[in-house]
Amino acid sequence: MLRQVTGKVISQNKTRGFTLIEMAIVLLLLSVLLAIAIPSLMRARSNAQINACKTHLWHIRDAKQRWAMENRKTENDMPSKDDLYPSYLKTWPECTAGGIFGIGKVDQAPECSIGEDHAIE
Ligand SMILES: [Zn+2]
Repeated sequence: MLRQVTGKVISQNKTRGFTLIEMAIVLLLLSVLLAIAIPSLMRARSNAQINACKTHLWHIRDAKQRWAMENRKTENDMPSKDDLYPSYLKTWPECTAGGIFGIGKVDQAPECSIGEDHAIE
């Protein structure tokens, strides 16, 4: 608001900050929103890691089967990492959750050291 005093325009500084109650309400709303959002974000991240891990395990399984067919191996033979990479896998996959892959025998599914959901049948 402007007020004219003795010919000069003086600005009355009527702007005020937020009250403590207003700030407390905003902080409360933000904390409630974060409390709702964070668990679902963590769950989505975990699901993405599980799906990526399963995809890597399928790629390893496919590489093992191609290795076995092309090299006339039996179900009990176990390829090494050097047998599969880089001949059958362009890059060696790594679990995004930090697990370590076990290749296993030809007839076994490869495993992730995390286990639980990080597995294929
Ligand atoms: Zn994994």
